[in-house]
Amino acid sequence: MLLECNATLAWRCPICGELELDEINIFDFSGKNRLEMKCVCGFTKLVFGKNSPKKYWLEYSCIVCESTHRVSYTQSKLWSDQIKEIKCLGNNAELGYLGPYDEVKKLAEEEEKCLKLMIDQLEFDDYFNNPEIMLSVLNELHDIAATNGLVCQCGNSDIDIDMLPREIRLTCNNCHGVTRISAENKDDLAFLRKIKQIKILEGVVSALEGINI
Ligand SMILES: [Zn+2]
Ligand SMILES: [Zn+2]
Ligand SMILES: [Zn+2]
Repeated sequence: MLLECNATLAWRCPICGELELDEINIFDFSGKNRLEMKCVCGFTKLVFGKNSPKKYWLEYSCIVCESTHRVSYTQSKLWSDQIKEIKCLGNNAELGYLGPYDEVKKLAEEEEKCLKLMIDQLEFDDYFNNPEIMLSVLNELHDIAATNGLVCQCGNSDIDIDMLPREIRLTCNNCHGVTRISAENKDDLAFLRKIKQIKILEGVVSALEGINI
């Protein structure tokens, strides 16, 4: 049987957050039974160990439950082509992967993408007073703009849309008239849904009112 005897580990450092790919192979264990994986920041993020020629273990500090977990693999499983998901033993969250380089790399990239999306989402949620209403209001505005309903009294239709935590501001690029649209609650949304056209008042700052309907 041809055993590859190398594997790639994708693991995020719990200290600095860096997700790295590390390759290990069976010769890393020659003459020793312990292999410490260090992050670029210096932290020992994970330890491989060998109990006997056919038995390996993996020890890692878990970012999810903040304890240390240890899992065991047989020699054939550790070096096999099969992807091994390394999880929090408390709640099953995936922490990293071990297996063939190509597959591990793909999974790691997907995870980075997911994390980035989550962070973007968190920032979005933090910024707005009511993110869901803000999204719906923005959606309504796009519908109004799509039917040429977004105009300024001065005749210009080149309008800037700015999102603030509690409102949207429409600014005319010609006369700098501004219309403020509240985006905090269901009433704001219901009000906007009745509107077919928004006309910015020339050169002044105004709130969106019945006059615009
Ligand atoms: Zn680190
Ligand atoms: Zn855990
Ligand atoms: Zn204008």
